[in-house]
Amino acid sequence: MNVQEYIDNQAALEEEARAAMPWEPKKCTYEMGSIRQQIFACRTHENIGICYSCSVMCHTKCDIVELFTKRNFTCDCGTERDKMIKEHNCKCDVRKNVENDIASLSNKYGQNFKGLFCSCSTEYDPDSKAVMLQCVLGIECDEDWYHDSCIMGIDDSKKDAQVRIDDPVSGESTIEGFPHLDSFDAFICWKCISKYDYYFKRILSHHASDKIIQCKLGRDSEIIPDKINENGKRVIEEGQNNGEYSVFLKSDYSKEFKTLKAKLEKDDKLFIFLDKIAPFLIEDDPIYEPAAEPEDDTDIIQLVSKILQNGASVGGVVDTMVTFNSMKTKLNEYLKSFAENNRVVKEEDVKNFFRSVEE
Ligand SMILES: [Zn+2]
Ligand SMILES: [Zn+2]
Ligand SMILES: [Zn+2]
Ligand SMILES: [Zn+2]
Ligand SMILES: [Zn+2]
Repeated sequence: MNVQEYIDNQAALEEEARAAMPWEPKKCTYEMGSIRQQIFACRTHENIGICYSCSVMCHTKCDIVELFTKRNFTCDCGTERDKMIKEHNCKCDVRKNVENDIASLSNKYGQNFKGLFCSCSTEYDPDSKAVMLQCVLGIECDEDWYHDSCIMGIDDSKKDAQVRIDDPVSGESTIEGFPHLDSFDAFICWKCISKYDYYFKRILSHHASDKIIQCKLGRDSEIIPDKINENGKRVIEEGQNNGEYSVFLKSDYSKEFKTLKAKLEKDDKLFIFLDKIAPFLIEDDPIYEPAAEPEDDTDIIQLVSKILQNGASVGGVVDTMVTFNSMKTKLNEYLKSFAENNRVVKEEDVKNFFRSVEE
């Protein structure tokens, strides 16, 4: 097979891309304790949450659901929660522990671990055009993911009738009335807002709120217009659906929350909220990243373009195979950026990669 054929074979490439592992599955995060990391749920073994390495190395034949990041989570592979019966001695094939380790008590097991997401409690549908957003506060909803239509409170029967606007640049498709995806940085669901109603009323009526809040979106599927009263404060409007609303945060929200907190008295309830209950609104925990695949210093892009210029006639079969392997390393690096940004790899992305190689 020459390079041109390889590039033509897009469907195979896509498969290859999906199978490509962006990180080396060498280290289980159990010993690091409760950290923010990529979590996978194993539906074969009582919906336990496991780390990236364990999803690849230990629960290989299991029904795994990718949950993206969760805060304060400890890997449950090979702990007392893991009921997997191993043919050999080890409870976790990465940690090589012979006895089941003690399970963390702080792990929160919400519906995501059953593979269910959003207020509609459905499985993730990769073919759906719906935009899904993770709640950045997440205390009440266990950092759940929500469909745009569910955020707007559109009921199931009307979901398919919604007018979607396709963005040719990003390839995203949004419902009319939903905030532009590049207009906000983070999202807080209505469940978390209702739970911390007092604090959000304080934040929304604060003069700094227009630096923090991009918009409120009511569950009655309409953007609640901002009303400013004579004191220059926002009026909180109650919509339908019990006045439930979600909030979209501007890109500088962390910095602005920090400024806001610095101006509050230490015994102020809002100070305590930002300091103790939701400190990650000001500084989020770093996401643990497994070690990357070893670097390959061959300048593969140059190499491939040279081969293409020469009509794919350079070198024999062995050379070509070496080239493909190096190219795969580059592809893995490219795909890693998708994993880091929680983006799903589409066929078009892989094509773009090879177009960039061809140029
Ligand atoms: Zn693990
Ligand atoms: Zn399993
Ligand atoms: Zn394991
Ligand atoms: Zn939903
Ligand atoms: Zn939430």
